Amino acid sequence: MSISDLFVNKKPVFSLEIFPPKKNGSIDTIYDTLDGLKDIKPDFISVTYGAGGNLADSSTIDICSIIKNNYNITPIAHLTCVNSTKDDISVILKRLKEKGIDNILALRGDINPEIPPKDDFKYANELVAYIKTQGDFGISAACYPEGHIQSATLVDDVLNVKKKVEAGAEHLISQLFFDNKFFYDFREKSAIAGINVPIEAGIMPVINKNQIERMVSMCGASLPPKFTKMCSRFANNPEALRDAGIAYAIDQIIDLISNDVDGIHLYTMNNPYVAKKIFEAIEAMR
Ligand code: FAD
Repeated sequence: MSISDLFVNKKPVFSLEIFPPKKNGSIDTIYDTLDGLKDIKPDFISVTYGAGGNLADSSTIDICSIIKNNYNITPIAHLTCVNSTKDDISVILKRLKEKGIDNILALRGDINPEIPPKDDFKYANELVAYIKTQGDFGISAACYPEGHIQSATLVDDVLNVKKKVEAGAEHLISQLFFDNKFFYDFREKSAIAGINVPIEAGIMPVINKNQIERMVSMCGASLPPKFTKMCSRFANNPEALRDAGIAYAIDQIIDLISNDVDGIHLYTMNNPYVAKKIFEAIEAMR
């Protein structure tokens, strides 16, 4: 089943993102994460993919397979292309098909200054188009409510998102944001540009100080005063910051649902405790 089909009969869709265990970590630890998340009954779970495009690292595919076969939940495999050739991608697509994984989040990936990009794919829309030639996959793509960090303007970026949709992406998942007004503005610009696929809002509950600094340096999300005040007020009280971060995410989600969002995609950071607290609070809204 294609992920985009979920949105035909359900609004909002609720989905989760997890990442594979770190290098040298055992894949078995993912069972603890999934055991903790399964009670939430997400509509699907997406699994991130290392930007290096290391073909030997099949953990994303293996974890998607576990999600599908052991937990009976629809998985979506992230796939980046900037460090891959078309042949590399074909090998991965073949493995995905063999495992019965039909849905892909097609991404360019971040450009690592130490690894020169390969020539076959420059942007994600080229990956989307290539996947379309390789079999029957449901294809999703990323979008950025505040504009992608390399984009000159939000309008330029929206027009580039449109290229992914025109190439065959049927569903979008947004980058995290802490001020819903960016999402609403992006959604409006997308509609004006003729983007007519479901757009899920990516929500990251911020639960510790390091995470905040890392996230902001990586994706450039704006921090509204309400958020920065919360972070400084509870900076030296980890439990209070965690609870405040959960409450902040719940507040964002309630506002998004009230404003008719297509779906909520929760960046779980493999933390079932936090995801469960959030889903308990919005249980009746599903
Ligand atoms: P693109 O859509 O190619 O866009 C990249 C930049 O190029 C943008 O500035 C865009 O405006 C511009 N652009 C796009 N197309 C064109 C074009 N045709 N001509 C000119 N300019 C163009 N990274 C990982 O490594 N692994 C993951 O698992 C992962 N998961 C993610 C999940 C989500 C929901 C999101 C939002 C991001 C994720 N990322 C992941 C990060 C992502 O790889 C980076 O943000 C990356 O820099 C851009 O990827 P993209 O697919 O959005 O690229």
